[in-house]
Amino acid sequence: MLSQRQLFLRYVAQTSPAPLALEIERAEGCWLYDRDGKKYLDLIAGIGPSVLGHRHPRVQAAVQAQLDAYWHTLVYGEFVLSPQVQYARRLAEQLPGLDAVYFVGSGTEATEGAMKLAKRYTGRPEFVACRNAYHGSTQGAASLMAPPDFTLAYQPLLPGIRHIDFNADGDLEKIGRHTAAVVVETVQGEAGLVPPRPEWLRALRQRCDDTGTLLILDEIQAGMGRTGHLFAFEKYGIVPDILLLAKGFGGGMPLGAFIARREVMQALSHDPVLGHITTFGGHPVCTAAGLATLEVLLEEDWLAQVPQREALFRRLLVHPAIREVRSAGLWLAVDLGDAGNVQAAIRHCIGHGVITDWFLFNDRSLRIAPPLVISEEEIRLACGVILAALENLP
Ligand code: PMP
Repeated sequence: MLSQRQLFLRYVAQTSPAPLALEIERAEGCWLYDRDGKKYLDLIAGIGPSVLGHRHPRVQAAVQAQLDAYWHTLVYGEFVLSPQVQYARRLAEQLPGLDAVYFVGSGTEATEGAMKLAKRYTGRPEFVACRNAYHGSTQGAASLMAPPDFTLAYQPLLPGIRHIDFNADGDLEKIGRHTAAVVVETVQGEAGLVPPRPEWLRALRQRCDDTGTLLILDEIQAGMGRTGHLFAFEKYGIVPDILLLAKGFGGGMPLGAFIARREVMQALSHDPVLGHITTFGGHPVCTAAGLATLEVLLEEDWLAQVPQREALFRRLLVHPAIREVRSAGLWLAVDLGDAGNVQAAIRHCIGHGVITDWFLFNDRSLRIAPPLVISEEEIRLACGVILAALENLP
């Protein structure tokens, strides 16, 4: 009889030649437990969604209550679904002027929806995006990607995309009256954690205003408290025209959104009607989980505690093999300057019960983005394992 792992390799689509194939049986807080009872500290929060850890009691209770009420029904703006309505209202209360929430099922769908909205609202065909940015894997979102290593095999993608360098002033000239929108991560994640220069972000906002271009901020990774602010842009004194959320936005359930001013969002409601629709986006169980997550973030002081947790990681992660630690809240890139060393460290960490990762466009840095509820003791344990991994580098 084939083992579960063999069945996985036989029947489940693979995305890399050598999958980790950890057999997870249970998860709670910052910990994952495998079939053999071995436990793993999840330093990547399930690649983002588990901002409050796994199966947070309030999120689980909200999911269970919604399961007892109703699961799925028509979701896209025709029926009045309480978890959607309440979540949208709580979000709008936190977002200056952005008061129309279009719920979708994932990050890349948020990017797609926002791109269509920008084209529709401005009547313009082109987009500007940053090099080394990641906005999703579907074809519209993937069109924004540069360099083309990940997309060459899938050409042709969307035409009319221009690229600029994140944080580079001169490049802003490429944004003009033909540009529907600029799509930018507030903090670049997959590039290996690159925070914006505040003056650059403000100049970008100004250039968009001057040219009538919409500014789309992708906070799919940066939002929902990751940087210590509910939304990363709050720190920089600018407001986007469209905000993209996903990952932590569903509190561990599949959910995304693009959020705009009602006057902008209106463009999707006519000529044609149903210009953008979704069967599952804003699923009641997922919006219930997301709403509970937002309520915990607003009512408890996890956001305020982010800087001290970030500082503790930074204090502990000191080693000759570490070239630099870049961070934006509980989101850190430990730069080892070498992809082989990163892979060796990841393997050592997993062998010793700590899950880390690298970044899509930066394989020289270790990714640390744990649940915001990680304790001081868990941070010390994690850093101890990482430092031991560095001691054992070949
Ligand atoms: N934008 C950013 C900044 C992301 O980090 C990701 C996921 N890594 C996405 C978009 C795409 O999200 P999803 O995988 O849910 O489609």
